[in-house]
Amino acid sequence: MTQQQATSRFLTWLDRQVLNAGRGNTLKELAVEPKGRFWIGRLASEEAVIESGLGERGERLDPCAVGIRLRPLGNAPWSFVVKATACVWMREANGVWRKRPGICQRVPVSIGDSEGDYEFGVAELTGALRLCCGQTGLTCSIRAEVRRDLASRPELTILVVNTSPKTLPWLKDTTLYECSVELSGLMTEPFILESLPDSFRYDRRVPAYGINCGIEVTKNSNLRTSDVVVVDKPRPQYWSVDEPVPDLAFAELETDPLPSLAQLVEAHTNWGHRTWTPATLDDRSLRGSWSPAMRVQAEAAGAEFWAENGRLTGGLELLRRTPRLLRAFTLMNRAMSYAANGKYDAWRPFQIGFLLANLACIASQDNDAEIADVVWFATGGGKTETYLGLLITAALYDRLRGKTTGTTAWSRFPLRMLSLQQTQRFADAMAGAERVRREEAIAGDPFSVGFLVGQGATPNSIPEDAQPGEPDPEDDKMPGRYRVLLKCPFCHGSSITMAFDRRYWRLAHQCSNEACPWTERHLPFYIVDDEIYRFLPTVIVGTLDKAASIAMQGGMRCLVGSPLGICSENGHGYVYAPRSKKPNGCLVPGCKGSPVGLSGRKELYAPTFRLQDELHLLRDSLGAVDAHYESLLDHLESEIAGRKPKILASSATLTGYERQINLLYRRDARVFPVQGPSSEEGFWAAASDDLARRYVAVAPRGVTIEYAVDQTVTELQRAVRRLQTEPQVVCAEAGIDARWVDHLLSLYGVDVVYGNTLRDLDAVARSLETQVNVVGELNTASLTGRTDFEDVRATLDRLEEPESAFDDRLHVITASSMMSHGVDIDRLNVMIMLGVPLTAAEFIQATARVGRRWPGLVYVMHKIARERDASVFRSFAKFVQQGDRFVEPIPITRRSRRVLEKTIAGVVLARILAVHEAKSGEALTTVRKLRAYFVKNGVTQSSELEAVIQMMGFDGNLDEALRNDLQRWFRRFFENLMEPGGTFKFPSDLSPTGKPMRSLRDVEEEAPILGV
Ligand SMILES: [Zn+2]
Ligand SMILES: [Zn+2]
Repeated sequence: MTQQQATSRFLTWLDRQVLNAGRGNTLKELAVEPKGRFWIGRLASEEAVIESGLGERGERLDPCAVGIRLRPLGNAPWSFVVKATACVWMREANGVWRKRPGICQRVPVSIGDSEGDYEFGVAELTGALRLCCGQTGLTCSIRAEVRRDLASRPELTILVVNTSPKTLPWLKDTTLYECSVELSGLMTEPFILESLPDSFRYDRRVPAYGINCGIEVTKNSNLRTSDVVVVDKPRPQYWSVDEPVPDLAFAELETDPLPSLAQLVEAHTNWGHRTWTPATLDDRSLRGSWSPAMRVQAEAAGAEFWAENGRLTGGLELLRRTPRLLRAFTLMNRAMSYAANGKYDAWRPFQIGFLLANLACIASQDNDAEIADVVWFATGGGKTETYLGLLITAALYDRLRGKTTGTTAWSRFPLRMLSLQQTQRFADAMAGAERVRREEAIAGDPFSVGFLVGQGATPNSIPEDAQPGEPDPEDDKMPGRYRVLLKCPFCHGSSITMAFDRRYWRLAHQCSNEACPWTERHLPFYIVDDEIYRFLPTVIVGTLDKAASIAMQGGMRCLVGSPLGICSENGHGYVYAPRSKKPNGCLVPGCKGSPVGLSGRKELYAPTFRLQDELHLLRDSLGAVDAHYESLLDHLESEIAGRKPKILASSATLTGYERQINLLYRRDARVFPVQGPSSEEGFWAAASDDLARRYVAVAPRGVTIEYAVDQTVTELQRAVRRLQTEPQVVCAEAGIDARWVDHLLSLYGVDVVYGNTLRDLDAVARSLETQVNVVGELNTASLTGRTDFEDVRATLDRLEEPESAFDDRLHVITASSMMSHGVDIDRLNVMIMLGVPLTAAEFIQATARVGRRWPGLVYVMHKIARERDASVFRSFAKFVQQGDRFVEPIPITRRSRRVLEKTIAGVVLARILAVHEAKSGEALTTVRKLRAYFVKNGVTQSSELEAVIQMMGFDGNLDEALRNDLQRWFRRFFENLMEPGGTFKFPSDLSPTGKPMRSLRDVEEEAPILGV
């Protein structure tokens, strides 16, 4: 048995423990009332449900019926057999509750096709209940409804209902337990899920719907209710075609890449000939009963496939005839092997596919900049590494073509706090590239990484005389508070120390390992904004909202073009426009040096790439604001460097990405990889036999969702602890070899409780302390937006490298969406989700945190009274299998007058800083100086207005209102500027709409933005 199979079996065993506890089927007696104990499989008395007065919600929260809705095949009368099961718990004289032998009654049903309600089996079921309890009073019946849908097709609903009174003299609790319904002997036809768009790629058929439950189709085609809905998601395999898999090991691609690459492209081509030919599509069309529209869709998808194939062929050609690019590519592979540090040693085919398809944007003149490329892949596939491969190739190519310094890429995340693990991957990759650069003696600055998230997480600058709250260079503890790296990116050791170096005014990460390949004192990793401006790291990673600084910080110019010079003092780096406290433009306090002109070609400084991770999160107001800032960044780069950067983005979903890209970046969109002919088969990925995640939908009955979560955690922890205390017994029960015990303890010993609101999470955290009853310690930690930076790092450390004793480890993590991005820990394999998240995208992202390498188990606890949760529960299988299709189109606009009112000040001031001030050669920080410069250089209201209209693309017929707003704004701005006796001191005072936004999130909390 392989390790994968053993983990899979253990997971099945673990799940069974939880479900048994929820249902009570392995118990015979109880000291407490069963009603307060079990959360699935039970049916309340109908009278009790009616008395609750909660209507349909009450029926969902504590149902009295469970059953199946189906579409019969063929004509009435329909005859079939309904098998119903149930059992009763009775309280004995000594106070103990004891389970009576259950009933299992088969009731023949025959029903005509006239609409109406029918009842069957009352006598049989009631008789069986009497036999099992030895008392009378409990009753039960089978109800059938016949209805016709809009197309007049008949639909049947078969329910078993607990018709008992609320209480009986001999039984306080008339709830029935372990209830189920099974239908045999009836042919059915499937429903078509109408809420999903028709697509040739997906199967929309649903065999039957469960009422207050899930539905299983048994081996002999019976329909059976299930207490929970279980959906297995297979792990993708990255090579499923007949051709032998090409050798894509780093080592091979470093020495002789062309044969493997050619083999890959050839396999892609061959697969296309097998899959996308008209004859094949005809065949599929016939088998899948495609509509003519679906056939047309498939034809278009085929054309997209061949376009992708053309890009691969083109990339290969480019490598063949561009020796410099080929060298950069081969060296990149060596860099990746250093970065991977033995964790993996080869590319997945799709990663290489992406690289080949995008080589043109590194090597060609026009940079392909009018197209934004989106990489879309199931989470956990290695998207980040794919990006990094491209960035390293570009950075090496830059050095080889004479860009000896400057930034190659600015990579942004839409979140307030960038994931530390993600940052570490960037650092590891660039450290690998730097080692290669040194080995190959390639000229230029060291490759480096900047972390640009600003205040809160890391400092904007280190002041000489720190005010309270500012980072104090005199405080020995200050550097440690800003540690970002988890490990040394060069030697991968836990050897990071932090220091502030007064001489070079640097807040530096250092490696204390004597054997580290990096021998200099400070690691090439910058976390203070000022240091990023001074040293222009090769790759800057940060959060999107930081773009707002471009209206305030002269140094932000380095993200769209060149600095203004370099300081004559050793180690001070680049300089920008002078300021009163920085008269020479050097950002080192008290610098006595003087600026020296730039040596390299100025236009080479501008970043080649702007990257956007988690593109789908750029929506609503954040998306609208960012759209304006993206246009601003493009405008500044083309003013300063004469070109546009290439945009690369990754997204968890593809719903409406073309429109979103167009609105955000004013570029056309292209996606890699194009999807295969069905959701399970594609060239780059297809379903394998291995389990990636088992999703279990739970609708807790008769108890609160909080209680169900507490109990689930309790059972999970008890089960795992049994594995430790009685390994032989558990392994025998699970059917696995005992040699896997330590491995399984590590993989399934931590439970993540994922909540959508902080209030939910607070409640969970509180009740974990009191309600989870296990032997031994229960250690918990939390990962939410409120968790301190240092605590996040400590928790990630403990998860990655657990304590040796199980009792010392973390057992439960409460987490919010903050952890749904970039947290990649193999030991997280069990999640309990408290309520269905608001968007399908978040569901996909969050659940992808577990089961990254080993089978994961996800309990989705539905807040079943809510309409949305109830509707997800009804179609849970499709929701999981076709999650991407449930993603709502992303609401976004760039034509919002209210947003423009927020962004315009920043846009204009950024232009003054980056374009006008740089041209003027002096500080334009006062109104007086700005006025003098504008007058002298003929900068007018209309020239500035025109520049903004062009950069935003507000020149269409629909944009008149926006143009009028802009005109009014500029008129007042220039009136204020030219006012001779004006009281305005700084240029930002001139804005009629107030100061520039300090963060792109400033509008976040407000109402959704609508276009004009
Ligand atoms: Zn090191
Ligand atoms: Zn200086």
